[in-house]
Amino acid sequence: MPIYEYSCQRCGNKFELLVRANTRPDCPDCLCTELTQKLSLVSTAA
Ligand SMILES: [Zn+2]
Repeated sequence: MPIYEYSCQRCGNKFELLVRANTRPDCPDCLCTELTQKLSLVSTAA
């Protein structure tokens, strides 16, 4: 399973999640689902 970094559009919280297919992640801070998905950590690792 890939790990993705998300940024919450509501509170600006940034967090990383393991994402399974057909899973809609939500913000651990405000529980909203309006998230911006960023690149996976696999491709951004130095
Ligand atoms: Zn949030």
